[in-house]
Amino acid sequence: MPLIAAYHRPDSVDEALTLLAAPNRKPLAGGTVINADRDASDLEVVDLQALGLTGIELTDGRLRIGATTSLADVAECAEAPSTIRELARRDQPASVRSIATVGGTIASRDAESTLLAALLVHDAQVELAGADDTSLASLLETGVRDGAIITAVTIDASGTTAIEATGRTPADTPIVAAVARSADGRTSLALTGVSETPVLVDSDDPTAALQPSGDFRGSSSYRLHLASILSARVMDAVR
Ligand SMILES: Cc1cc2nc3c(=O)[nH]c(=O)nc-3n(C[C@H](O)[C@H](O)[C@H](O)COP(=O)(O)OP(=O)(O)OC[C@H]3O[C@@H](n4cnc5c(N)ncnc54)[C@H](O)[C@@H]3O)c2cc1C
Repeated sequence: MPLIAAYHRPDSVDEALTLLAAPNRKPLAGGTVINADRDASDLEVVDLQALGLTGIELTDGRLRIGATTSLADVAECAEAPSTIRELARRDQPASVRSIATVGGTIASRDAESTLLAALLVHDAQVELAGADDTSLASLLETGVRDGAIITAVTIDASGTTAIEATGRTPADTPIVAAVARSADGRTSLALTGVSETPVLVDSDDPTAALQPSGDFRGSSSYRLHLASILSARVMDAVR
């Protein structure tokens, strides 16, 4: 993303939506993506920090995480499932983790985000202003509509989970990762590194319909092989 041309700081969600209705304007959360390079542009940003969208609360077994909550706060939240805490910590280096937000992570739809995979298996539902609420799985397919704002994500905090990942080193972003969850007799499985975004897959046939792109870290067939092995391991762990 390029150097910004103007900065707006609304005090309410309604004011933010009005500002975002004009062309060339985007929400600004932690800024780790949107403010990352120095090329001049006509992009204007609408800062979400004063909208009251920060915080985590547990109600009736569902955890609601406000969009501008930092990944560091998620990593330290005692009420969050262990997988969510662990992957909020692992997804980013400490310097980025303290400013990057949950809403920015969802809107960025990074194919390699293990946190997004964990949110998917926890039945994540995304709350939006300026668009209808939707499941995270649907939002990852379509992206956030122009002019809309993610206000929060809710997850089912129950269940047993497992993570398996293969990277070039243990701390590197995984080439492929698998996250599984079992709750109320049902299992769910999500993969990173095999599609345009993290995806929920059929736990009985995880690689069906996957056609991953290869890169210098792993060919398409290597990624499919990893997906198959890692899926079997996490499903064994949660069954
Ligand atoms: C060194 C470094 C390492 C990184 N490693 C990883 C990694 O391992 N995995 C990974 O997934 N990402 C990684 N990233 C990318 C980035 O940090 C994450 O995607 C991050 O969580 C983005 O959050 P943010 O709050 O900084 O978003 P911003 O930069 O503020 O925004 C990113 C995009 O999301 C939109 N947006 C933000 N919030 C909202 C909202 N509430 N509603 C609607 N749209 C919104 C913005 O308009 C923009 O288009 C890395 C970045 C850096 C700089």
